Amino acid sequence: MSRRRPLTLTALVALGAAGAVFFFLAPPSPARVNTTGWDDLAARTIAGAFHVHTTRSDGHGDRAAVAAAAASAGLKFVMLTDHGDATRPPDPPGYINGVLILDGVEISTDHGHLVALDMPRAPYPLGGSAEAVVEDVHRLGGFAIAAHPDSPKPTLRWTDNAAPIDGIEWINTDSEWRDETRGSLVRAGLAYFFGGGAALGSLLDRPATLDRWNTLSRRGPVVALAAADAHGGPGERAEDQDRTMFGTIGIPSYEASFRALSNRVVLDKPLSGDAAADAQAIYGAVRAGRLFSSIDSVATPALLDFRFESGLERVPMGSVLEDDADGALVARVAAPDGSELALVRDGRVVARTQGNELRHVLTAANGSYHVEVLVPGAPGTPAVPWLVSNGIGFFRDRASGLGGSRAAQTTGVPAIGAAAAPFPWRFEKDPTSTSRLRTGDTSATLEFRLGDGERAGQFVAMATDLQRHEFATIDLTLAGDRPMRVSVQLRTADGRRWGRSYYVDPAGSTLQVPVAALAPIGHNGRLTSTEATSLLLVIDLTNAGPGRAGALTVRSSAFIK
Ligand SMILES: [Zn+2]
Ligand SMILES: [Zn+2]
Repeated sequence: MSRRRPLTLTALVALGAAGAVFFFLAPPSPARVNTTGWDDLAARTIAGAFHVHTTRSDGHGDRAAVAAAAASAGLKFVMLTDHGDATRPPDPPGYINGVLILDGVEISTDHGHLVALDMPRAPYPLGGSAEAVVEDVHRLGGFAIAAHPDSPKPTLRWTDNAAPIDGIEWINTDSEWRDETRGSLVRAGLAYFFGGGAALGSLLDRPATLDRWNTLSRRGPVVALAAADAHGGPGERAEDQDRTMFGTIGIPSYEASFRALSNRVVLDKPLSGDAAADAQAIYGAVRAGRLFSSIDSVATPALLDFRFESGLERVPMGSVLEDDADGALVARVAAPDGSELALVRDGRVVARTQGNELRHVLTAANGSYHVEVLVPGAPGTPAVPWLVSNGIGFFRDRASGLGGSRAAQTTGVPAIGAAAAPFPWRFEKDPTSTSRLRTGDTSATLEFRLGDGERAGQFVAMATDLQRHEFATIDLTLAGDRPMRVSVQLRTADGRRWGRSYYVDPAGSTLQVPVAALAPIGHNGRLTSTEATSLLLVIDLTNAGPGRAGALTVRSSAFIK
């Protein structure tokens, strides 16, 4: 007997210690939101995950594994965003395990990562400046979302504040844990074993990106989404080569990511079960800003009805209206007890209530409004909002806010001054590429083939020499044998270059290239046109693969003062 006592004591002590650890580390399970009386909205509010990687890029599981995890987490759709250049044809929408799998792509640009949704395959690899990639995504009919815009990792940040993006990740789980201290990561890592979704949720704060979103929304509508950035465990991430704490111990799982936060689209009617029709409904809701996000590790399920009422008119969340409207913004939310419902205009709270309904009268409305719900005990300093809606915007010139304002290819006709033709053309290339120039009476065509094999800086270019002209704009009419992008560049005698990428269509594209719009390439120097000694039309690996053969024709060219 006496021999056993120490053992029992040890066991008791161990049990007590485990209990204490559990008590301090186990994150509270999510509060259950009472949705009695919300049946209609609940049936039309569809929860899903956005920004998910599979084994196609740097994720840990295949589509079936992702679908199974989403089903366990109670989600109805997943937007896959494997890394790529958009030349892979996206899989058609399909149901797996009751979960609609939608196939998007995460494209690396010179200014950060961009997710493209609802887009067919691209005719050439998308890449280069953010502006160029957003323009391509729009031409192809896709929806462009800036990924992890304020990542603590500088190379992952979205650094273009002017590109007309359609959407932004207001929160990204992958970015969130990167800014945590080692201590809270260890705590979350341990807590993970008691409840993965809640442990991930415990690392969230109010992201700085909300301020960025508010600033962007003053120009026009930008749709906010919550990104899981789920990889399903360890693996070499394209995002970085760092060994992550989570990565090394094999977490977070897809299911943990999916239980932490979600996007909820609000449809006109419940999903039908037909994959193509349901995909269209979900994409339509995302494009229209008819979705909100919720931190499900705090409380679930979230339901929101946010609209503008004017007379008999009912305008849903995501709408863009002329300013000067009179009416009332109405928000109703199914939320846990003690929540605060806040109405935010251009980043400032203009109304708040402790209840679950808010009505705010507007006269001569102007600006962008959205709803946030704050739940007591939500993690973070400052606390992450439990629910973030999309906006209802009132703008003077509503067309101006809808993107494309920087599409210089068709806008702005420069004053015609003395035009100097830059003929004759010659070509330049790297040693592995081949090219041949054919000149006609009024045009010149470069037939080319980029060198095969490894990516090693292959390029071909049409070039013409300049005689210290003074000019403000370069006018070009170009045509490609297929859709392509050409970098229009000026080079000075010391070899420095300035350039900008333009889309060139087989039917012909008329470009007006302002000298002031050319960006320095690999340096910070300023350009004056009189210093330029060469004009180059460059085709390189930015938007063409090794071995790509084709033809570029210059139909006309002129320098405009
Ligand atoms: Zn990324
Ligand atoms: Zn990603």
